[in-house]
Amino acid sequence: MGKPTGFKEYDRKKTAWRLPVVRLHDYKEIYTEPDEQQLRTQGARCMDCGVPFCQSATGCPIDNLIPEWNDLVYNGRWRDALDRLHKTNNFPEFTGRVCPAPCEGACVLGITNPPVSIKNIESAIIDKGFAEGWVKANPPKSRSGKSVAIIGSGPAGLAAADQLNKVGHSVTVYERSDRIGGLLMYGIPNMKLDKGDVERRLDLMREEGVKFITKANVGVNVDPKQLMAENHAVLLSTGATKPRDLPIPGRQLKGVYFAMEFLSANTASLLDSNHADGKFISAKGKKVVVIGGGDTGCDCIGTSLRHECSQLVNFELLEKPPEERASDNPWPQWPRIFRSDYGHEEAQEKFGIDPREYSILSKEFLDDGKGNVKGIRTVRVKWEKVDGRMVMKEVDGSEQIIEADLVLLAMGFLGPENYVSEMMGLEYDARSNYKAEHGKFTTNVPGVFAAGDCRRGQSLVVWAINEGRGAARAIDIYLTGESKLPAPGVTMGSALVEASV
Ligand SMILES: Cc1cc2nc3c(=O)[nH]c(=O)nc-3n(C[C@H](O)[C@H](O)[C@H](O)COP(=O)(O)OP(=O)(O)OC[C@H]3O[C@@H](n4cnc5c(N)ncnc54)[C@H](O)[C@@H]3O)c2cc1C
Ligand code: SF4
Repeated sequence: MGKPTGFKEYDRKKTAWRLPVVRLHDYKEIYTEPDEQQLRTQGARCMDCGVPFCQSATGCPIDNLIPEWNDLVYNGRWRDALDRLHKTNNFPEFTGRVCPAPCEGACVLGITNPPVSIKNIESAIIDKGFAEGWVKANPPKSRSGKSVAIIGSGPAGLAAADQLNKVGHSVTVYERSDRIGGLLMYGIPNMKLDKGDVERRLDLMREEGVKFITKANVGVNVDPKQLMAENHAVLLSTGATKPRDLPIPGRQLKGVYFAMEFLSANTASLLDSNHADGKFISAKGKKVVVIGGGDTGCDCIGTSLRHECSQLVNFELLEKPPEERASDNPWPQWPRIFRSDYGHEEAQEKFGIDPREYSILSKEFLDDGKGNVKGIRTVRVKWEKVDGRMVMKEVDGSEQIIEADLVLLAMGFLGPENYVSEMMGLEYDARSNYKAEHGKFTTNVPGVFAAGDCRRGQSLVVWAINEGRGAARAIDIYLTGESKLPAPGVTMGSALVEASV
């Protein structure tokens, strides 16, 4: 434990984001350079609890050794902190930027005080590691003679590839898109995760021997049966890419898009030509309505603002969350409270009001007479508990028309697409995800594994890494009968992790 009285002496301080008024004019990351002394005092706030809930089942999904690296940072031992961090996390530069930090919701200090700024410390450790040149390619000393094909290059596929390559298996990652990274590349926008951060890690993996093939749409221009025949194992990490639709009257109108159509095209055009090719859906001068909250909704807000939309409203069907934890949401659970993310702050800055409208239901998209959307007919709803379940009721007389000439649907995802799974004969679970038990990751087809959002449903980057690491261990055992690869929940605790690769 760094400083026994640190949590009494120092208040929580977060590394600031760039000012909304400045950052909403560019696509650079929103973060500022951290102050090293501030991070050390934040590390000193960690109480090194007997039971560190931050790395328990309700905290960090990859069992990051948080109290250990908090202490090392407090003592200025950054290089050791980096080594501890890489024991459990293949990509701390991604989680340190985009993770919602369930660890902080479970921090014991959080019961009485604001929690330790764990996420800031994590990203500072890895950023310093790269800046100092400590993060280097470390190819395996020998090859096992076994080959694994990974379909899908999001964080689940990448974590699995990284782990399997470490123990000498030959890994090829097949990606249908023109760039590697899944939602790290074409979902989460640059301002939250710069694509240089993604490329930097991919370059290391390439140097270590992982092969990446882009524009390889397995089931379309690559035969999955051939992959199964030519490899010793196959991992599906194809993501939850089926978007939830809003099939109300007027859905066919021009100007109504899925969030991912908007976000992916924006990033592709930005990376290809700094938007000069015009191959994106522009929100410039438009009245934008984003339907749905969460990270996707927020990214649509942030991107629309950067396009210079003229108006912005964000619909949320549910009620506004409480400012403090409700009685049925106690510590160490993830606090379901009202939060403002970067896009909300920026909209507040630009238009002077929070863009979010709660308890609102869209009934119809309205036509301008030329086949374009011109507005949305809405009603307000209220939520009541009936027989223990929350039931939605429309409020009489609350009908309202909201003007819109660009509508973005950010209402979540309904599991993986089916074309590869059907060709491979995979079974589905009750939620239409690929059926494979967490921990085993085996599907009904021998030698075929599934991990990430395609198995668990839409989730988080940190959960994708959890699944990728777990699947790598399961595949290693399938290939060799044993595994030294650590996996979340299997080899928790520093002694065990230390003993592994
Ligand atoms: C807009 C948006 C913002 C988000 N923001 C955050 C955030 O801030 N923090 C956070 O923690 N999480 C966030 N998430 C969630 C997070 O990105 C996902 O949970 C995570 O990326 C899932 O990883 P994955 O590897 O399972 O799948 P994905 O990242 O979805 O990757 C799957 C890949 O498989 C490829 N693929 C699919 N089928 C085939 C095929 N047949 N052949 C070849 N390739 C194929 C796809 O093209 C894709 O590249 C966000 C999600 C979205 C949509
Ligand atoms: S990965 Fe997420 S949950 Fe784990 S320590 Fe980092 S911020 Fe916390």
